[in-house]
Amino acid sequence: MKRIAVRNLRLCTKDCLCLYVCPTGATDTEDSIIDASRCIGCGSCADACPSSAISMVVAEYPPQQRKDKDVCDAVLDAADCRSRLEAMAKKIAAETEEDGLRRLMKAIAMSSRLSSEDLLREGGYMLPQSSVSQDLIHSLIADPPEGFPTAEARELLRRIPCNDREGKKEESYRCSVCFSEFTLDDGEEAACPMCHAPKEKLERL
Ligand code: SF4
Ligand code: SF4
Repeated sequence: MKRIAVRNLRLCTKDCLCLYVCPTGATDTEDSIIDASRCIGCGSCADACPSSAISMVVAEYPPQQRKDKDVCDAVLDAADCRSRLEAMAKKIAAETEEDGLRRLMKAIAMSSRLSSEDLLREGGYMLPQSSVSQDLIHSLIADPPEGFPTAEARELLRRIPCNDREGKKEESYRCSVCFSEFTLDDGEEAACPMCHAPKEKLERL
């Protein structure tokens, strides 16, 4: 399995050993982000780094285990419940003047958050490349809740293609009418999901 090097900028002390041992110059970049297109995965930089700032990661993640749709839906409902509990506990913590109650509410908010994250992980929603995550993001883009970062979500879908949709490939497009960027499954009717502009108005990215 092909691996590439990634650098943790918080740990990196800059301009030292990896620059000298890298055979391709992939570590020597203007923005300090290792150039994945030049990395051959030899691991010399990770071995040489005195700060353990470099990790070797797989270049392409395998698809996640298949999840039953009913389980995914049940997980989303349960996680939603905990999110609302978290929000409520935070609100009470912010409003109360009683120290004991404030600490209790903060603990409830934190445990609700952790439990919600566990549920989402079990349901297959923690991997942005999974089809369940991507379907969820598509639905949130189509009907965004208040404060939802729609532009960032589109960018995420554009950068991270789905890797577990059997027999289907996704293509990225930009609409020349409303300038939305989005992905469509191979075979899906090509039209802008935002303004419904027809196929002729879409530019393949
Ligand atoms: S793994 Fe090898 S090629 Fe890639 S950045 Fe590190 S030293 Fe360079
Ligand atoms: S060897 Fe490690 S600490 Fe030094 S520049 Fe490279 S990543 Fe940063």
